Amino acid sequence: MPSFANQRDNFLHCSRTAPEQFSQVQEWVLPNKTRVVVHTAGIIEFIPNAYQQGKGSHVLYSCGVHGNETAPIEICDELVEALLAQTLSLTVRLMVQFANLPAMDIAQRFISENMNRLFCGAHSPQDNPERVRANQLEQLTIAFFAQADDPAICYHYDLHTAIKDSAYPRFAVYPFLHGKAYSKTQLLWLAKAGIQAVLFSESPTTTYSYFSSLHCGVHSFTVELGKVKPFGHNNMADFAQARTALFDLVSVESVESVSTMPVLFRIKQMILRHTEDFKFHFPDNTPNFTAFNQGDVLASEYDAQGTLLRSYSCVQDAEAIVFPNANVALGQRALLTVVPVTEKECQFDV
Ligand SMILES: [Zn+2]
Repeated sequence: MPSFANQRDNFLHCSRTAPEQFSQVQEWVLPNKTRVVVHTAGIIEFIPNAYQQGKGSHVLYSCGVHGNETAPIEICDELVEALLAQTLSLTVRLMVQFANLPAMDIAQRFISENMNRLFCGAHSPQDNPERVRANQLEQLTIAFFAQADDPAICYHYDLHTAIKDSAYPRFAVYPFLHGKAYSKTQLLWLAKAGIQAVLFSESPTTTYSYFSSLHCGVHSFTVELGKVKPFGHNNMADFAQARTALFDLVSVESVESVSTMPVLFRIKQMILRHTEDFKFHFPDNTPNFTAFNQGDVLASEYDAQGTLLRSYSCVQDAEAIVFPNANVALGQRALLTVVPVTEKECQFDV
């Protein structure tokens, strides 16, 4: 029996405090016949006894890609411990990834750079902890989903919490599908998980959900479950609906679906920061999804002498801001704008 299996200690805690004990893959079978595979620190897989090679849903939950986004980490920790304690039994093959362990320890978004800009090969050269980890996550994710016969019943939810307050505290980003139809079933599942709004991305990115969507062909989403808080300070009632949906997806054969879609948006503008002197024209505490009118100036950039280089304005009414962050590295996204779309304007698979 491997050392971790014998300790019966908390997996996340061991991964954070003694990652060296996971330098080799560890594999064992629980008394309920569930096979457990610990690939490395923070990455654990569960294979139910009834699993037939390649059949059924393969589900991946990733959390802590940003180390200080604690609520999803706490939900995944609870799920892993319930499975190890056999108080929950699994109906799917499941991998759980606690992504940025060192950033969790310092309660920061990242150590060296934003991990959610490092996928799809953007992790080269591997010269800092986030780049090394992003590469490792990609490889394990590819290998995990490669075992599934039918990617149409495979799911990756990359779980986050947002920095800002939000008119819709719980929302998801649907990665660019290169013309493939959107899944209505997935949008309704997200609604059941308490997701109030969905943004359709319309260009390639280097996020984790875009990576698994593109390279594994599975249903994949970046899911913002609420507002960022330190460990132990989350009001878990705010996350109850998401927690139930995430637990049910892996442990209940069929769950009742809902019929009301989240509010839908598509991305209108992606505004990058090019200079040191980059300013927004709205207050710091402006919530996500606050709408502006055509012609309203959202951001400006100046050269070292303070001369205005360029400004960014709304191109239509009801254009709303999401993810404003003036402190991103140069060349990175400082702001998205989104506009509402109706169901009729979207191409669905059913
Ligand atoms: Zn995040």
